[in-house]
Amino acid sequence: MQPFNCAVCGQIVFFDNSTCLRCSSPLGYLRSERALVALETPEGEDDATAMITAAAMERADRPGRTYRRCANQIIARCNWLLTEDDEGELCASCRLTAVRPNDDEVDALEAFADAEQAKRRLLHQLDIIGLPVVGRDEDEERGVAFEFLSSRNQQVMTGHDGGVITLDLSESDDAHREFVRQQMGEAYRTVLGHLRHEIGHYYWPRLVVDADRVEGFRELFGDETISYQDALDQHYADGDASTSWVDSYVSEYATMHPWEDWAETFAHYLHIRAGLHTAKAYGITIGEPAVTAARETYTPDVGVDVGPTVQAWLGLTLGLNAMSRSIGEGDLYPFVLSTDVIAKLDFVHRCVTAGTEAPATDRSAARS
Ligand SMILES: [Zn+2]
Ligand SMILES: [Zn+2]
Ligand SMILES: [Zn+2]
Repeated sequence: MQPFNCAVCGQIVFFDNSTCLRCSSPLGYLRSERALVALETPEGEDDATAMITAAAMERADRPGRTYRRCANQIIARCNWLLTEDDEGELCASCRLTAVRPNDDEVDALEAFADAEQAKRRLLHQLDIIGLPVVGRDEDEERGVAFEFLSSRNQQVMTGHDGGVITLDLSESDDAHREFVRQQMGEAYRTVLGHLRHEIGHYYWPRLVVDADRVEGFRELFGDETISYQDALDQHYADGDASTSWVDSYVSEYATMHPWEDWAETFAHYLHIRAGLHTAKAYGITIGEPAVTAARETYTPDVGVDVGPTVQAWLGLTLGLNAMSRSIGEGDLYPFVLSTDVIAKLDFVHRCVTAGTEAPATDRSAARS
């Protein structure tokens, strides 16, 4: 994620900000421009509900444009704007959420806001990469919808079903998530990671089936027509504590079923793209010896499109891991990317970039 600048005072501001911390200008995120714009509230109006116009510097190139804040400004900490063309009260991100906790579930609402924040970050990245997200309201059968529910009062399974993405909001409770992470033997477990995984399931029929890539998929990920239930039972019955999966899978969970392998690889691919995008936006470059080490670790095969991306990532994470250790923390990126995993990442990369205008590079990386 790139940093932004306050259009009024130039202060560095961030994706989630709704106010400039230096000059107090109200800020809002304009999705069509992938930009945080400074706003001014007409005299005597309330920022939360009033029509707001772009502040002085912004107004020069957008004369007379007025925006509204999303009605979920408070409940979802949403800073996205609606333009005059938008119908309804909710922004494009909040509209994708079909189910949320009740108004009296205080803890769940806090977790809901965290989940919405992660979802906005996900959508921003998908916009940059050029992967369209079609909502249930536009496509009743195949569109995506999010259901954010707390498992405190009912059974909630995080997962994906025909475009509907369900997230158990207890996943945004740090202690709970850390407990589950250790139980599952995972290196990472984050709300954003969950959403990246689940949206991977949503894209599978689009990027693989619709694009006639099922053959290629099966060669790398296996036959997805095997029974999901059998695979699930097998996975839990085995309880195999060995780490032999690292040779072929990005995570242990990926061994469960070819669809899970795809979703885990897809999520990891989004992590990599996001990490590289951020590094570029902040001008973080890694020099020797990390670059050499990355080159020695992985020489891209001829014809592997994702090669340069992986090499840049390995160099960067080598440096960042060393950085993290130098302040007494563990590795920031505790993953091994085997040759098989890189081949799967390459498949995802090809699927993702096939339909987009500008593959391989992040067009907006240099934007501020
Ligand atoms: Zn400012
Ligand atoms: Zn919103
Ligand atoms: Zn899954």
